[in-house]
Amino acid sequence: MAYDSNNIFAKILRSEIPCEKIFEDDFALAFHDIHPQAPVHALVIPKGPYENYAAFAADASDEELIGFTRAVSEVVEMLGGSIKGGYRLIANCGAHGGQEVPHYHVHILGGKALGRMVADK
Ligand code: AMP
Repeated sequence: MAYDSNNIFAKILRSEIPCEKIFEDDFALAFHDIHPQAPVHALVIPKGPYENYAAFAADASDEELIGFTRAVSEVVEMLGGSIKGGYRLIANCGAHGGQEVPHYHVHILGGKALGRMVADK
């Protein structure tokens, strides 16, 4: 499917709407989720136009893949003490995955014991 450049994260990348920024480099932007699902809830997005994990894995350059992966780690480091007990990385993909925003992103959740995986069965 073609990437929709009108999605909200594309608008954040173009600075058309604000975000509560945590980190930015050439490959990634990280910011706090507007509706946090845990005491700490950050989002990390690649700068390139990739709809989901599969598109990113298939189409991003090696430099982008490495840069984004390291950026997620950098954000985890920056969140530091607030997620010292551990954290969860989630990448929702497609309708059944619960993906709302069609720009690839990783959620970093923590700040309390999160329980096991998904709540609804
Ligand atoms: P997903 O369901 O995996 O696509 O997650 C999208 C996430 O983006 C949700 O957790 C939303 O709360 C979050 N979100 C939507 N709009 C914004 C925004 N303007 N700033 C920060 N987070 C947002």
